[in-house]
Formats: sequence, C-alpha cells, structure tokens
Amino acid sequence: MENVIVLATGNRHKYAELRQVLGNLPLALRGLVDFAPVPEAVEDGVSFGENAYKKAHHYAQAYNVPCLADDTGLVVDALGGKPGVHSARYAGPGATDRANCERLLRELADVDRRTARFVCVLTLVAPNGASLSWEGRCEGEIITEWRGEHGFGYDPLFLVPQLNKTLAEIPLAEKEAYSHRGRALAQFMGEFDRVREWLRRQATVRRAP
Ligand code: IMP
Repeated sequence: MENVIVLATGNRHKYAELRQVLGNLPLALRGLVDFAPVPEAVEDGVSFGENAYKKAHHYAQAYNVPCLADDTGLVVDALGGKPGVHSARYAGPGATDRANCERLLRELADVDRRTARFVCVLTLVAPNGASLSWEGRCEGEIITEWRGEHGFGYDPLFLVPQLNKTLAEIPLAEKEAYSHRGRALAQFMGEFDRVREWLRRQATVRRAP
C-alpha cells in the first residue's frame, strides 16, 4: 500500500515545488486543503530545523498522518545572517513578498558584499513525534533590481552566479535542479527506500504519553 504523506504548507508555490519533485514517487501526497482546517502552526523557533519540525509536528498531531514541512530562509552575509528565520516577516508581520524584497534592497542599498544563500530544511514527522530531516542550500548574490517572473518570495533578487540568472528567471522544473529546496528533496529521494521503511516502523510505534 502507498504511504500517505501530507505536504504541510499553506504556501501554494512551495506546495507546487514539492509536488513537482515528489509526484512520481509511490506516495499518496495530500495537502492541508484535504483536511479540516486547524489553526496554523506557530513558527517561533530559533532555527530552520526547529521551525520545520514545529510545522510538520503540528499537522501530524492534528491529522494523525505523517507530515512533511519545509522551513526556508535567506541568509545574507553582509546582514550578519539576516533575515534568516525571520525571512517571512522581514518587513513586518504578514508582510508581502514585495515588501520583504523592498526592505532587503533598502538594507543593502550601499553594500558591495552581496553574497547570500537560501537554506531549506525539510522535516518529515510521524504522528508519534519521531522525525527525519534533510537540508539543502543554494549559494548566490542579491542583485539590485527585480529580475524574472517565475518563483516567489526573494527569487527575483537572488542571482545564481553559474547561470547568471535569478531563481525567478528559470521555470519551476529547472529551479529544483539548483535550489535549496531541490537539493533537500534530492536527498529525500536518494534515501526514499529507507524513508519508506522508517514510515512503516513508525506506524507501529505509539506516541509517548
Ligand atoms: P517559510 O519557509 O514559508 O517560513 O518562508 C520564509 C520566507 O522565505 C518567505 O518570505 C518566503 O517567501 C521565502 N521563501 C521560501 N522559499 C523560498 C524560495 O524558494 N525562493 C524565494 N523565497 C523563498
């Protein structure tokens, strides 16, 4: 029987990227929309790994199904690693992608050193709370103006030097070959047999009281 995994994200772009890569695996993929609504997970961790676990754990407990969550952030060297875990709310609570990008451009207005990386942690949590994680990174530079129509978030400002293109200038299928998320997913896929076995075992191990 196929394992059911919930892609625990409310972000439709992330959902599309995860589905695009995992779609061919013998998995029954579900989204949050396939379940009754529950309050959103609170992302107040101090690391990407902690937040990815919090999200996946929140929904795995609510739905009693293994959940896969991704926490991603942009780490800019000249800003001492910011926005980091605060990437989603860099321009304030509920900020739009555009507002976050505008703040980033303002903070880097007079800065020459523009190296940065996306860091993505993918975490799979079983209903009993046990978890597996994978991390992917994408090195690049923050450019000074928007380029490209694909992608989301900070993609239009993030140049991948070996392509001389931003992540927003390459279509979704290609983005996964270079992106932080694609690299984390490649590790997941590389270990898929072990993951399946792990899922089978967790189904027999109860949650600690
Ligand atoms: P979260 O992982 O959903 O908390 O996202 C953190 C922030 O990073 C949000 O502002 C997202 O828009 C942004 N983000 C997440 N993944 C990507 C990506 O693949 N490219 C560009 N921005 C991203």
